[in-house]
Amino acid sequence: MNEIILLKLGELVLKGLNRRSFEDKLQANIHRRLHPFGQFKVYTRQSTTYVEPKDDTCDVEGAYEALTKVFGIVGISLARPCEKDKDAILACAKEFLDDQLRAARTFKVETKRADKTFPMTSIQLSQYVGGELHEAYDNLEVDVHHPELTVYVEVRDYAAYVHAQPQPGAGGLPVGINGRAVSLLSGGIDSPVASWMIAKRGVALEMVHFFSYPYTSPEAKEKVLELAKLLTPYTGRLTVHVVPFTAIQEELRRSCPEELFTVIMRRFMMRISEAVAKRCGAKALVTGECLGQVASQTMDAMMVTGSVVDLPILRPCVGMDKEEIVQIARKIGTFETSILPYEDCCTVFTPRHPRLRPMPGEVAEAEKNLDIDAMVQAAVDGIERVQVNL
Ligand code: ATP
Ligand code: MG
Repeated sequence: MNEIILLKLGELVLKGLNRRSFEDKLQANIHRRLHPFGQFKVYTRQSTTYVEPKDDTCDVEGAYEALTKVFGIVGISLARPCEKDKDAILACAKEFLDDQLRAARTFKVETKRADKTFPMTSIQLSQYVGGELHEAYDNLEVDVHHPELTVYVEVRDYAAYVHAQPQPGAGGLPVGINGRAVSLLSGGIDSPVASWMIAKRGVALEMVHFFSYPYTSPEAKEKVLELAKLLTPYTGRLTVHVVPFTAIQEELRRSCPEELFTVIMRRFMMRISEAVAKRCGAKALVTGECLGQVASQTMDAMMVTGSVVDLPILRPCVGMDKEEIVQIARKIGTFETSILPYEDCCTVFTPRHPRLRPMPGEVAEAEKNLDIDAMVQAAVDGIERVQVNL
């Protein structure tokens, strides 16, 4: 008998989103994420989702690890099956949870009995297993109210299962339940974090990256694709729309006042991203902008860049300190790649004195002689779509 994985689902009581669509979306995401690890049976009973390997070739550990990154799951535990017999259950608990039983000072046993033909009641079985464990481990006292360790016993149709309290899952909402957005992914620290935060709220993402070859190197592009790949355990498979940006940047350098270069360049990023969003049915743009972090991220600059698009711009990092963003980047595993020293298109032709408070009027004036639609269209036509997966 194989170990199985138990999942606790999060935020089920949502206004407007019903439980059924939450569970269906999550099940589909779970199936997709489990695919590399073998064939599993996934079903939900009494607010617990059971993930059972169908045969011995399944990689249950790999599956467990993958499921800790699936949004919509708040708790995850591994359960060891055993014969439906009180002493088999006790032996299983001693063997499977030995480390935890030795480490805890207080504990209790909680039993769920789906198989009503089992000869003991839930309470009797808890008392029996609890009493024997108390005998066997000198360090343990029973505390039914606030135990450090809860030993769960489940008596189900074909077997009994033993597990300890769940480890925290990724939380959030199943990806896809809240529509789709286009995320602007640079090679920096902030935009992968911003993408992760929005995906966590149940949003499927399409990534856009602006690439300025030869000013930025093929390695810089590879780094961004690697960042996208690092996000896929959370987001599922991603498409990165790599936008050729060199021609636009060169045109802006020729024809725009230097101090407005960045803000005008960012307006083009927004327009192109919106065009991508319209093609793929996305309802918002996502950036890693953070208020006051750099000259292009003042309130005035955000207003002037945001005003060229109709779609809402989600900026989940807007109120965070750098250190808080870095903490998340480390947790999700993007930090080390983000700090690799490749240039971003934003660092090409950086003005010496960027305007901190660009005025909408002067920016419009500076753009007056540009054929904006043609420039956007040419960039969109040149997009290279790269699929990334684990
Ligand atoms: P990051 O760490 O995400 O690179 P940053 O602090 O370096 O952010 P900027 O370079 O000003 O800030 O970029 C702000 C946001 O604009 C980024 O978070 C990202 O969403 C978007 N952006 C910047 N450069 C690119 C790019 N080359 N391709 C796609 N999006 C970009
Ligand atoms: Mg950047």
